[in-house]
Amino acid sequence: MPQKITTGVFGSATRDEPVINANADELQRVEDDVSAVQATVGKQAAELQELRVVVMALRQILVEKGASTGAELDDAIEELSRPPPPPPALGNDPYRTAAATPAPEPTVTCIVCNLAVPTSSTVITAKGTVCDSCFDR
Ligand SMILES: [Zn+2]
Repeated sequence: MPQKITTGVFGSATRDEPVINANADELQRVEDDVSAVQATVGKQAAELQELRVVVMALRQILVEKGASTGAELDDAIEELSRPPPPPPALGNDPYRTAAATPAPEPTVTCIVCNLAVPTSSTVITAKGTVCDSCFDR
């Protein structure tokens, strides 16, 4: 337990007493957290040991009953232990590349200059859609 200081320990109260005591409280909280983590790790180690025994018992039964050989079980374990393969590169798949490429912005024909312009560069007027350039004139 972190030692707190109280007025009088050094004959008189030190100016740093509040800081020292706050640090002692913080240290106590950290020590409590570490204790909790240690307890959890201890429980998990016990559970892991139990699971290891169960797996070894199941393996022994499977081999004894002739359901599988030890080598088959080892192969199956190795197979399941491998990390999954990386996702395929987008490469030449037209569907994937189409999905990965953003769709071009739709265009609108300006009623003044008759040019096709992106919809975000237009203004809708009472007479129709006008491009920003024509609108500003
Ligand atoms: Zn225009």
